[in-house]
Amino acid sequence: MTLSKHAIRPNFLPFSPPYITEAEIEAVVATLRTDWITTGPQVRDFENDFIASLDAPENLTALALNSCTAGLHVALATLNIGPGDEVITSPMTFCSSVNVIEHVGATPVLADVEPDTLTLDPQRVAEAITPRTKAIIPVHYAGHPADMRPIMDLAREHGLYIIEDAAHSLPASYEGQRIGTIGDFTSFSFYATKNLTTGEGGMLTGSPEHIARARVLSLHGMSRDAWKRYSAEGSWFYEVIEPGFKYNMPDIQAAIGRVQLGRLNEMQSRRYEVVEQYHAAFADVPALQIPVERPNVEAAWHLYVLRLHPEHLSINRGQFIEELRARNIGTSVHFIPVHLHPYYRDKYGWKPDDFPVTFDAYQRILSLPLHPRLSDDDIADVTAAVLDIVAQFS
Ligand SMILES: *Cc1c(COP(=O)(O)O)cnc(C)c1O
Repeated sequence: MTLSKHAIRPNFLPFSPPYITEAEIEAVVATLRTDWITTGPQVRDFENDFIASLDAPENLTALALNSCTAGLHVALATLNIGPGDEVITSPMTFCSSVNVIEHVGATPVLADVEPDTLTLDPQRVAEAITPRTKAIIPVHYAGHPADMRPIMDLAREHGLYIIEDAAHSLPASYEGQRIGTIGDFTSFSFYATKNLTTGEGGMLTGSPEHIARARVLSLHGMSRDAWKRYSAEGSWFYEVIEPGFKYNMPDIQAAIGRVQLGRLNEMQSRRYEVVEQYHAAFADVPALQIPVERPNVEAAWHLYVLRLHPEHLSINRGQFIEELRARNIGTSVHFIPVHLHPYYRDKYGWKPDDFPVTFDAYQRILSLPLHPRLSDDDIADVTAAVLDIVAQFS
């Protein structure tokens, strides 16, 4: 491996470190100094702050959970989706979007993605609908909303539920509507790498009726939550309505989330600046394909997914990543498609080319560092390293 004359940054640039300030630390310490560290007043306030931040209509409610995966799972369970039912989702996603379909005993059906956004292709979804289809899980890949209007039309036409995987898409909007206010359920992630983090955590939004059932299912199927059970205003009585899950978010995490929510706009501004600088550096390079933002959306820019044009390069994507690592730049690949993982490949007999747009993209994608802690020098190091590799291996 030969490195060019360009100076290489002395320290490794991590792909996506969390951005925690003294304010989050103080909020956690303050919570620890109270007698309430599990689900309680911080969680209630976080849920209300979150709904307010979505400019949500009156009839929308939020449920804080310990992950986005928990939100997707509990949404399926709330809608009574189970054995014999089919749920359509994208192969270009993290495994949890599909694992939850298996958890409830339903059958995952994959529909390929659109070539520009790598989000669910409504045409492929239409072809995948059968009399057994009960729900669609659109994934707002990299923070770019899926094309929700035709997907919602299909749902109405066939009586299907929409559960959005919004792990990447806080804050985002589609045709003026905020993500989180469109489908029957929307599940956000506050995992360490996401745009807003609580370490681990998630938020599920939906109608008050749906969220009320999801709330019960998310805490053992008990008809009253811990706050009401143990606080002075509550009573000792509860009933188990069905065997639920243990998916609640503790106040320690909600305290982090409330501070992060207050900082979200400022953190997003920096993300958008990084994106602009990457676009400017890469837009005219024939070996590179930059990510798009369609005119009818506002993307959350969780990831900056660059695609290589292999016909312009003498190295492949894996080697490109190694070259970036040698230049001290951290990267990742989002995602290894669902249908290539052994469990799914073997159970459903899926072949790589069954979802050709996804498979083609998979071989060409890499995600560059995109987070609000990047300095202008960091961005310059990333662009210089990418352009250096392109020049060397064109
Ligand atoms: C991170 C992620 C999830 C899972 O989020 P958790 O909060 O870790 O459960 C789900 N879907 C996608 C697309 C993700 O990137």
